[in-house]
Amino acid sequence: MIGILGGTFDPIHHGHLRPALEIHERLGLDELRLVPAHVPPHRPLPGTTAEHRLAMAERAIGGLPGFRVDRRELDRSGPSYSVDTLVQLRAEVGPARPLLMLVGLDAFAGLHTWHRWREIPRLAHVVVVGRPGGESPAPGTGYLEAADVVDASERLRELPCGHVLFEAVTLLDISATAIRALLRAGRSPRFLLPDPVLDYILENDLYRNDREETQLIETEESRHAK
Ligand code: ATP
Repeated sequence: MIGILGGTFDPIHHGHLRPALEIHERLGLDELRLVPAHVPPHRPLPGTTAEHRLAMAERAIGGLPGFRVDRRELDRSGPSYSVDTLVQLRAEVGPARPLLMLVGLDAFAGLHTWHRWREIPRLAHVVVVGRPGGESPAPGTGYLEAADVVDASERLRELPCGHVLFEAVTLLDISATAIRALLRAGRSPRFLLPDPVLDYILENDLYRNDREETQLIETEESRHAK
C-alpha cells in the first residue's frame, strides 16, 4: 500500500511527520509520500517558494526508509488538486493496489468541498488522523456521503479505494501558522519541527519578515467554490 500526505508544508512540522510515521508503521505501508502543494503565483507574499517548501520536506525526512517527497504538484502549473494527483498515481500503481490519502481531521471535515471530491473514493482510501480541534462530520454527511467507514486497517487491503479509516495517532497541537507566527515574533519554534528544518529556515531567513495578515495561502479548503 502506498500512502500520500499532501499539504502546503509551510513549513513541515512534527504534526505532519509523527502521524505519518505512526500510520506508516501501523498499516505496514510500502511507502509514504509527502506531496507539497503548488501555491499559486498570485499568493500575495514573497515568502516561501515551492523550492524552499520542498527542501524543508526533504530535510525533514532526511532519507528515512519508506518515506519520500513527491514533487509532482510543484511541476504542474495551476492549482494543485489532490484529485489530479490521485488520478496520476492510480495510473502509475495500476488498478489493484490500495492507495491511501492521509488527511488530518480538520482537512477531512472539508473534504467534500474539494475539487471533484466525489471522484476521490474511486481513486483512493482516506485515512483520517486526529488533530486537536478537528471534528468528524456526522455519519452520512460530508465526505461520508460517498465513502464507507471501516474500523480495521486490514479492510484497506481488500479493495484499492473507497474506504475511510479513522486512526488514532499521537495528538500534536502544532500548526504551520503558529510556527510562522513565532518566527515573525522573533521567538523560537524549536521542538515543534525537526532541527534540520529549523536550521534551513534560519539559514535562508524564512518567515521572519512575513506579513501574515495579508497572506492568503490557497489551500484545497479555500478553493471549494471553484
Ligand atoms: P497552516 O497552519 O499553514 O494551515 P498546517 O499546519 O495545517 O498549515 P498543512 O500543510 O496545511 O499544515 O497540512 C497538511 C495536512 O496535514 C492536512 O491534512 C492537515 O490536516 C494535516 N495536519 C497538519 N497539522 C497536523 C497536526 N498537528 N496533526 C494532525 N494532522 C495535521
